[in-house]
Amino acid sequence: MRKPGPHAARAVVALALASGLAACAPTAPDATTEPTDASGVPDAQAEVTEIVSLSAPIPGYVDVVALGAAGQVDASTNGQSLGAVTLIADEDGTLIASISSPIVGAQTFCLADQCGRVYVTDPEAQTPEAAAEVAQTALDEVLAGTGAATTFPDWTFVVGSQMSGVGGTTDAERRIVTINATPGRTHEEYVLTVRHEIGHVIDVEAMDDALRAEYLAIRGLPPDTRWSRGAGEHPTGDARWHYGEEDFAELVATLMSGGSHVPRDSDFAAAPTRGELEQIRELIDPDGTLASLWG
Ligand SMILES: [Zn+2]
Repeated sequence: MRKPGPHAARAVVALALASGLAACAPTAPDATTEPTDASGVPDAQAEVTEIVSLSAPIPGYVDVVALGAAGQVDASTNGQSLGAVTLIADEDGTLIASISSPIVGAQTFCLADQCGRVYVTDPEAQTPEAAAEVAQTALDEVLAGTGAATTFPDWTFVVGSQMSGVGGTTDAERRIVTINATPGRTHEEYVLTVRHEIGHVIDVEAMDDALRAEYLAIRGLPPDTRWSRGAGEHPTGDARWHYGEEDFAELVATLMSGGSHVPRDSDFAAAPTRGELEQIRELIDPDGTLASLWG
C-alpha cells in the first residue's frame, strides 16, 4: 500500500452505512444527514480501481482514500460485511470515506475487490505515544542484546506509527526496519516482531536462491513454494504467513528466542524439530558470524 497522501490526514465526512452502524462525522455540519457538499454522493455504484491508503487516526474508524468513481460500494473487513458504504469525490476526484469498523486491531479491509491492511485502535487503548515507548524499549532491548545494529551496519531500525496495519516492515531497498507502534501490543509482542524483521534482514543479507531452495527442503516445503508475496496481493488471516520468506523470518525468530517461539504459520509447515533448527542455523550462519543473534 502506498503511504497515506495529504487527504488521509484530513477528517472526512460522514457516510451512511447500510448495516446501521454509526457513521463518524468529525467535521460534518450534521452527522445525521447525507453530506451536502457539491461533490455530491451519487446513488450510483462506485467503482474502486485502487485503494491509495487506509488509515485509522480516529479509534474505531477506517479512513479510506481510493481511486475510481464515487457512489455506493460494498465494504467488508476480515470477511465480515459492512454493507454498502458511500465514497464521495474530493475536489481533485480522489474518493474518500470514513467507515466505522466493528473490529479492533489488524484487519484486511476491502471495498469491493480492492483490499488493504489497516490497524483500528480501540478507543480505550493506550495512547500512540505510550505505544511508541513500549515499542522503542523492546527494539532497543533486542538490538542491545544481539548486537544486530553492529552486525548489520547498513541498516536502520526505527519505531514507526500505528497506521500501516502490520507489526513491522523490512524495506530491503532502503535497508530500513520499521517496528510499528500499535496501542495495546505487549513488550513480548514487540520483541517477537523485531526478531521476525531481523529474519527478513538476514534473508536479504545472507541468503541467495540456492540457500533458499535448501531451506525449503529442510522445512519439507515443495521446491516451487513461493518465497515472496507478489505486488498487489493481500492474503488474509493465516495465508499471510504462507510464503517462504515469512516462514524463514519466523524460524529466525525461533532461533533468536532460543527455540521457545513457535512459528505462527503452523498449517503451512510443521513446527521445526530441534534438529531442523540446528540445520537451519548452520545454513544461515555456517561460520558463526551471526553467533551473537542466537543468544
Ligand atoms: Zn514478515
